[in-house]
Amino acid sequence: MRSSPRLVIVGGGIAGAELIRLLSNTEIEISLIEPKHQIECQALYPDYLAGLVGIDDMIAPLDDFCERSGALHISERALELDDGVVVCQRSRVEYDILVIAVGAEQNFYGVKGSENAFSVNTFEGTLHAREFIERESPDRIMVVGSGLTGVEVASVLADSLESNIYIVEMQGRILPQFPERISRLVERILFERGVSILTSTQVSEIQRDSITFADGTTLDCDMTIWTTGIKPTQFAENLRFPKKRGWLLTDPYLRVQDDIFAIGDCAWIEIDQKLATKTGIEAERQAKHMAENLKRMIRRRSLTQYSILACTENPIALISTGCGRAVGVYGRTCIPLPARLLRAVKIWIDKSIVSRYK
Ligand SMILES: Cc1cc2nc3c(=O)[nH]c(=O)nc-3n(C[C@H](O)[C@H](O)[C@H](O)COP(=O)(O)OP(=O)(O)OC[C@H]3O[C@@H](n4cnc5c(N)ncnc54)[C@H](O)[C@@H]3O)c2cc1C
Repeated sequence: MRSSPRLVIVGGGIAGAELIRLLSNTEIEISLIEPKHQIECQALYPDYLAGLVGIDDMIAPLDDFCERSGALHISERALELDDGVVVCQRSRVEYDILVIAVGAEQNFYGVKGSENAFSVNTFEGTLHAREFIERESPDRIMVVGSGLTGVEVASVLADSLESNIYIVEMQGRILPQFPERISRLVERILFERGVSILTSTQVSEIQRDSITFADGTTLDCDMTIWTTGIKPTQFAENLRFPKKRGWLLTDPYLRVQDDIFAIGDCAWIEIDQKLATKTGIEAERQAKHMAENLKRMIRRRSLTQYSILACTENPIALISTGCGRAVGVYGRTCIPLPARLLRAVKIWIDKSIVSRYK
């Protein structure tokens, strides 16, 4: 390996940006391939939707950050890999070490009429949804999916709008990936906020002014916000590396193959029977580990194994529940702190992630 290896990172979201920050101004020559000109904090999208934070709170300018960090920003989309080269829309970028951090995309699971739904999975989608709310003041809003995002969207909207908010969940309870007692607690809070919860209910079609369920019944509505499910990006899907359910399968060193690594949402990281959750907490920790291992590679030392913190068996989350409150989850337990304090901590964490890159 060269004394100053060429590190190429594909994707400048939380994982990619954090890796650059931690390697800034080292001997490593860093290029970032990312079509966007800003780093975005998805965790703040529900708050923006409800008018609780501004655009500047959610984003940091990427070009300035790269310049300060000594990284080259190549503002293009990566298309494929070709023998040590990332093929982009206009250029070909050679690498010695490649880190793939391309995140994930919203999965509509082929539901009919998905183009009629709004999504808060992207920055643009969130702005579009907020514009619609401001312009149309929708009376009935259906939130499809009751994972962390669905619950947050429903509760902050119930808090800030006069609208009737519904949550539609295919499984038997909301927050199905969390322990049952957390689901019951949050269900009670949502009920108090006036949110209607439809569990064991599958959506089959979305129209502009209604939503149809698998049993054939239809409910009129003015807006549908789809929050459930993510899938690999087109770039990751096209790569011919080992995969698990379409995600890039890494070894315990976060390596996909030779000097190619994957971190963040695009990676399937399973170590010692623990499966890493696709969360900002994990993306950030993986970036930190990757940075340490890259420094070790340069010193020709052996790589160390990654240790997963937030896994499917041990979820970690601060979930906004409206009225300036949040529920904290650590594994099977609720964090025993006041709800207002937890919400303040959540907003502080999310905003400070963005400020870190400014
Ligand atoms: C609404 C919402 C709320 C959330 N709330 C929380 C929360 O409260 N706590 C928490 O821990 N997690 C939360 N998450 C999850 C968290 O945001 C993600 O896990 C995290 O952003 C993943 O980081 P990443 O860097 O892997 O991907 P991303 O942040 O999605 O970044 C991926 C980047 O790759 C770029 N890219 C994609 N394809 C290409 C290509 N072909 N070429 C070049 N670049 C490409 C994209 O433009 C993007 O900038 C939330 C997610 C959403 C959607």
